[in-house]
Amino acid sequence: MTPAPAPNAMLPAPGDSGLSAVALAAPAPAQSAALTLVDSHCHLVFRNFDDDLEAVAQRWRDAGVRALIHACVEPGEIAAIRALADRFPELRYAVGVHPLDTQHWQEQTAADLRAAALADNRVVAIGELGLDLYREANLDRQLAVLDPQLDLAVELDLPVIIHCRDAAAPMLELLAGRASQDRVPRGVMHCWGGTPGEMEAFLAHGLMISFSGTVTFPKAEDTHQCARQVPADRYLVETDCPFLAPVPRRGKRNEPAFVASVAARLAELRGETIEQVATTSTANAVRLFGLPLRPV
Ligand SMILES: [Zn+2]
Ligand SMILES: [Zn+2]
Repeated sequence: MTPAPAPNAMLPAPGDSGLSAVALAAPAPAQSAALTLVDSHCHLVFRNFDDDLEAVAQRWRDAGVRALIHACVEPGEIAAIRALADRFPELRYAVGVHPLDTQHWQEQTAADLRAAALADNRVVAIGELGLDLYREANLDRQLAVLDPQLDLAVELDLPVIIHCRDAAAPMLELLAGRASQDRVPRGVMHCWGGTPGEMEAFLAHGLMISFSGTVTFPKAEDTHQCARQVPADRYLVETDCPFLAPVPRRGKRNEPAFVASVAARLAELRGETIEQVATTSTANAVRLFGLPLRPV
């Protein structure tokens, strides 16, 4: 999803919730006890979590979330994300510049990202990077920020976390050009919302597909079909919190514990158990990001 200048504006005001505090605080205990999950994309540095992060962490631990990947939208966030990794040992993070944050890309930014990645072995990816033509039309500028980050990922042999909204065609064109030079990094299409045909094209480039709360939305038929179709060894689950809370918490603040709802919906769509989806998606995340979590 996208960084927001005022994240709270995207969320209901306190007291505006139709859902009780008890419901928000209680991830389904019956399904959570035995699960092992990875939230492969979250944002906790946004100020939505200032007041209750310890409680949020307790809920993700209760829900079985054993590792989290924190995305980065611009280098100014890195110090705060690193401090969170100090506080929560299960947290790993990416460094990168989001396509809607291109104003933060300067001459030395690639060098800054390289230094940040080399300075801390908890940096497990470059991102989030990508293209977003839903909110902006500055494709040339976005490409100028994206391309050197893909180069950096290849150089450092790190996976990329790709944000791609209304931009599958130019993204595939860029990847095709890089494929001819064998310069497509490993990585994941995050918060997947494309068609099955687009998914197959990204899979053909070796990328994984990460499903978010959007897969729980009733009308997201293309995403549902992608969830049925994606090979077992190629998908992840994520929250992209604080955005995009899954059903039944849609419209509320999202948090890592709710990744269990994403896994539950994937299980329904694939005709599998939630335990199977949790085990499979966790193993995929461990493999892609080199997480210290033992494969399950
Ligand atoms: Zn994000
Ligand atoms: Zn995103």
